[in-house]
Amino acid sequence: MNTPTIFWFRRDLRLADNPALREAVRRSNGLVLATFIIDDELSAPAGPTRARYLRRTLEALDASLDGSIVIRRGEPSRVLAALANECGARTVVATADFAPYGRARDQRVREDLREANIETMFLDSPYVVVPGTVRNQAGAGYLVFGAYARGWSTEPLPAPLDAPSDVTWLRAPSLALDELEDAAGTRRPSYFGDLPDAPAPRLMAAGEEAAFAQLALFRAHLDGYAQGRDVPSRDATSRLSPFVRFGVLHPRQVLAALSGTSPDHQKFVDEIGWREFYADVLFHHPASARQSFQGSMRPLRYDNDAKAQERFRAWALGETGYPLVDAGMRQLLEEGWMHNRVRMVAASFLVKHLHLDWRWGARWFMWRLADGDLASNQHGWQWTAGTGTDAAPFHRIFNPTLQAKRFDPDGVYVKRYVEELRDTPAPDCLEPGGGSSLFNARYVAPLVDANEERLEALARFAEARELARSGS
Ligand SMILES: Cc1cc2nc3c(=O)[nH]c(=O)nc-3n(C[C@H](O)[C@H](O)[C@H](O)COP(=O)(O)OP(=O)(O)OC[C@H]3O[C@@H](n4cnc5c(N)ncnc54)[C@H](O)[C@@H]3O)c2cc1C
Repeated sequence: MNTPTIFWFRRDLRLADNPALREAVRRSNGLVLATFIIDDELSAPAGPTRARYLRRTLEALDASLDGSIVIRRGEPSRVLAALANECGARTVVATADFAPYGRARDQRVREDLREANIETMFLDSPYVVVPGTVRNQAGAGYLVFGAYARGWSTEPLPAPLDAPSDVTWLRAPSLALDELEDAAGTRRPSYFGDLPDAPAPRLMAAGEEAAFAQLALFRAHLDGYAQGRDVPSRDATSRLSPFVRFGVLHPRQVLAALSGTSPDHQKFVDEIGWREFYADVLFHHPASARQSFQGSMRPLRYDNDAKAQERFRAWALGETGYPLVDAGMRQLLEEGWMHNRVRMVAASFLVKHLHLDWRWGARWFMWRLADGDLASNQHGWQWTAGTGTDAAPFHRIFNPTLQAKRFDPDGVYVKRYVEELRDTPAPDCLEPGGGSSLFNARYVAPLVDANEERLEALARFAEARELARSGS
């Protein structure tokens, strides 16, 4: 009789092109117990939106496993050892994780299970190129995207694999998926105050079938991506991020489906490259998830008094009086997703115009985004805040009104999310407070004067550099 293998699903919630799953099937001649473990360490800081989206993703996965996924909750070593006892497995297979917590956890699991005579195999990665692979001549990781991307793009791109066939999915007692949402969001920072906890009401579809449908849709309109991707009112980006985040689609599959050489294609490949770059930076510099990557930016002075908390609240609710920022923050609340251009503008506004710690904003994004990903989020924030790997970023202060006029000139995006401005004609609907229009009476007055706060931000950045230089 064959000995079963345990396959531990984590950030690879798919059957197609899953080399680790194929290995689990191969080793056991098709006798696999598939499990997902609710780990409170990961669930507690994840907000309700990501938990809801993950739940839907797992429901879809479960349906494709004939309802046999085994959901357990607890410390992974203990859960896996118990499952191995229950089903007689001697091997646990999973896709390797490269984020700081995941790496440490997998090391622990490997050691704990070895003591119980259970073998662990961590294979493949959630990336096209395994983090830590692309290095300079001195053997170090790159800190500049262009240099990283040159090395990255020469790495081989293996063809995607089919889903395994002839598998018998073992059954075992399983928790209900309600447990996932119960476990989420218990580690809520105090500066969130009374901000809403309910998951975003209009979440994207989940699961492998929906992912392939979205990929096919995007393939049909990849032409024009390079220009269109900056216009938030257009659906010109792929909207694949939640699928890629949970490994419902591997970026290998995405690149294979969108092969080509056009400038639009190249731009898209670059964006996938940014995701890989940030994972690589985080792999080499795990502390950059929790503190500014640039030492010279660590003394940057942020506000954190009661007024700062009120401003944070207004920002998070989309009530700053700056229409593009507010539209983005409301899109986040409603859809659990925000357009990339607006993520940059909203993040810049928090740091450069409200003088709040980028980690506050990053935490709120992680709380509300369905695609919330530690590497992309923390480094996307730091790129915008000017505290990350970028060389001379401190003047990068997006003017939220000019950004709106440039990328949403007719106010189509703003009006979609800021209901109070629906009757206000452009360009007034793009101005702070909705401009001087008679139609905008219900919209809030601007929270701050962006021009004044820009000068304050420049002064604080200069002060931080000076403090770092003098070593105080
Ligand atoms: C402040 C801030 C926070 C962010 N937080 C996240 C996050 O938590 N999770 C996340 O996946 N992305 C994050 N991004 C990156 C980017 O905004 C999203 O990946 C993108 O908006 C997703 O939409 P899309 O799938 O339509 O993108 P597309 O333009 O279609 O890009 C295709 C894929 O490439 C990747 N990608 C695109 N742009 C970036 C980028 N700048 N950095 C890293 N990967 C990228 C994503 O996987 C995306 O699905 C953040 C950006 C900023 C500025």
